[in-house]
Formats: sequence, C-alpha cells, structure tokens
Amino acid sequence: LHQYAEKLEHKTDELAARATTDALTGIPNRACFDAFLQRCMDEAALSSRPLPFGVLMLDVDHFKRFNDSYGHPVGDEVLKLVAQTLRKVIRGSEISARYGGEEFAVALQCSRQGLEVAAERLRSAIENAKLQAEGAMLSVTVSIGGACVDDLRSVDAALLIQCADRCLYAAKRSGRNRAVVQLASEDE
Ligand code: GH3
Ligand code: MG
Ligand code: MG
Repeated sequence: LHQYAEKLEHKTDELAARATTDALTGIPNRACFDAFLQRCMDEAALSSRPLPFGVLMLDVDHFKRFNDSYGHPVGDEVLKLVAQTLRKVIRGSEISARYGGEEFAVALQCSRQGLEVAAERLRSAIENAKLQAEGAMLSVTVSIGGACVDDLRSVDAALLIQCADRCLYAAKRSGRNRAVVQLASEDE
C-alpha cells in the first residue's frame, strides 16, 4: 500500500508539472503565467505598501517565414531558442512563459524604468542568439510590448495584458525588433 501511495504521489507531481509546462519549450505555459499573475495580485492586495509591477509580451518577428523557408522543425527550434534565452535572462522571482504560438510573456516586480531595461536586455539577447540550421545562421528577433503599474493593488490583470498587447502592436508597426513600454494608466 505504501509503495502504491508513493507511485500515486509521483504520478500526481508529474501530471501537475505537465499541466503547467509548455511541452515544446519546457518553460511555463499560459495557465502557469496566469496563475502567477493572480498570485502576485492576491499578495499585493494583502500588502500595505504599493507594489510596482510590469508585464512584457514578446512576439517573434516574421515567424511564419522560418516555417515556410526551413520547415516546421526549424520553426520549433526558433521557439526553443527564444524560450532558452528568456530562461537565461529572467531571474528566479520573475516568470517567463510561452503564452501561445510564437508569443511569450514575462512578469516582473519592477518600476517602469526597470521594465524598459528588462525589455531591452531580452530584445538584444534574442537578437544575438543565433540559430544554426541547414548550414545557415538564422537571426531571430522579437517585438516587445510592455505595460506597468506603480501599484499592482489598483489594476486588473486583463487590463495590464491588454495594454502590453497594444504596445506590442505599436512595436510591430514601428519596424519590429524593438520594445515599446508604457504605464497602463497612460493607455487610452
Ligand atoms: P509578425 O512579425 O507580424 O509577428 O509576423 P509572423 O509571421 O510572426 O506572424 P503570423 O501570426 O503571421 O505567424 C505566426 C505563425 O506561427 C503561424 C503559425 O503557423 C506559427 N506557429 C504557431 N505555433 C507554432 C509551433 O508550435 N511551431 C511552429 N513551427 N510554428 C508555429
Ligand atoms: Mg503572433
Ligand atoms: Mg510573430
């Protein structure tokens, strides 16, 4: 019975890990990111001090071209490269996740200036992390949209994501391979 209980526990841990991890890249998935955000907001609500907070949304530039020119497996390698780079750059108390398709999300407890610095660090780390495929060196770039608040107690998560998304599209429109960050309160 003891052995059986141990086996079950092991299986439960394995299933829990699978439910929160993206199978392709091995980093947290969207459900895990959403839960992290909710936990941060719950903690902030209990706090007596304001908590500066920011979210970055990253989208691989012209990702479809990697699939179309080199095939789906190379597209998958591009996603893994972005995920690995995020994992290297993002610290322990923060989270980076695959949000869906070729989009990634990062959440940080930092000021607007901190968010701008983090966005630029990620952008340049990805630009410099070359991928070798079929004898060619592929360069991968991302566009980044960021939204932050001076106090996480005064905002809802959907609004923060929506604002970051709008900034992401502004970054795409203004030429890609760049970051646009703003205070969520400036969002029209
Ligand atoms: P933009 O710079 O405007 O973002 O252009 P884009 O080509 O990156 O954007 P688009 O939305 O047109 O293409 C996204 C593509 O991502 C389409 C889809 O087939 C591909 N994709 C989504 N998930 C995966 C995946 O897991 N693996 C691979 N290889 N491709 C994926
Ligand atoms: Mg996209
Ligand atoms: Mg894209």
